Amino acid sequence: MKFNEALDLLQVYEAGKPIELVVREYCLKAHEVIKLASNENPYGTAQKVRDCMLHALTHVHFYPDDSMYELKKSLAEHFHVVPEEIIIGAGSDQVIDLAIRAKCKKNDSILMAGITFAMYEIYGRAIGANIVRTQNEQHNLDEFKALYKKHNPKVIFICSPNNPLGEALEVNDIVQFLQEIDSEVLVVIDGAYQEYAAFKDRKMKIVPTEIIKQFPNILYLGTFSKVYGLGGMRIGYGIAQKEIIKYLYKLRPPFNVTTLSLVAANQALKEQDFIEYSLKNCFEQMGCYEDFCQERGIEYIPSYANFITMKLGKVNSTTLSEWLLSQGVIVRNLASYNINAIRITIGTQEHNKRLLLLLKEFYETY
Ligand SMILES: *Cc1c(COP(=O)(O)O)cnc(C)c1O
Repeated sequence: MKFNEALDLLQVYEAGKPIELVVREYCLKAHEVIKLASNENPYGTAQKVRDCMLHALTHVHFYPDDSMYELKKSLAEHFHVVPEEIIIGAGSDQVIDLAIRAKCKKNDSILMAGITFAMYEIYGRAIGANIVRTQNEQHNLDEFKALYKKHNPKVIFICSPNNPLGEALEVNDIVQFLQEIDSEVLVVIDGAYQEYAAFKDRKMKIVPTEIIKQFPNILYLGTFSKVYGLGGMRIGYGIAQKEIIKYLYKLRPPFNVTTLSLVAANQALKEQDFIEYSLKNCFEQMGCYEDFCQERGIEYIPSYANFITMKLGKVNSTTLSEWLLSQGVIVRNLASYNINAIRITIGTQEHNKRLLLLLKEFYETY
């Protein structure tokens, strides 16, 4: 059978390996395996969030509230926007897909960083778009500007902090860049890790309401999968001026987010103490990895997110990540991004101690 040819160029997205699979493959016990591969919150989610979900179980036979009234109201308050400026998706992943399909046709160009979130390319290719990447692995806005002039893209993706590398852009630089982009071009600012960046350095903090007021062509994305600890619930959101949201809505499948996800996200947003706790611990713990790298002369990218990416030099990232798997620790091998690097999600102190011991062992015997 012939399929959409654009898909022949695509590799299946490699998600972080689930614990269950490692348990089966390496004959380990589930409690022996730790997963530091998908940038989830190692502290879970707030207790009240779980309680709310239990309560909501009594009405799961009804379809969810498709207006998503409560969560939109909470998000609107949180971000100082109005509900009509919000769309909620089954993960911000879904909003990426809607945005590309709403804006692009076959052979249109989509511009993104040399190494960035894989789904931009996957959804882009699915509709036959032309993917343009900067030579720079990390976001370099001068190069973005040059490629924008050359290729006239319909959509530009800026991921700050960038997954899987961890660098972030200063808001002033983003704003300056946006001033040079035609308002016909949809610029998607993916803020999946913005809570982390804002905590580490206010210069990196993007305030969606300010950006969308100033620019009619911006779609800001956020998610509940990372610091909010709800990766398993698949819920994220987009914030933009009403006109953009209106078009995304034309493509949104009905009931795209479950009742439990809506309830969980709504409560999670209110548990800001838990968020603060998670952020503070993340950066404290990240320091242990930075120290390790500095002691061993391992190159790492200073990170504004909840992970740290190490460039491995002579050590092969596949060798290292497979050895770690055999020891019960899942990290993200970045070989599929064509770099010899691993990305480690910052875990709890206990997780990190164990992984650092293993890394020491590996480097000493290598
Ligand atoms: C995790 C992530 C997302 C989206 O995650 P969802 O679980 O689909 O909300 C989007 N962008 C980046 C860069 C991410 O790392």
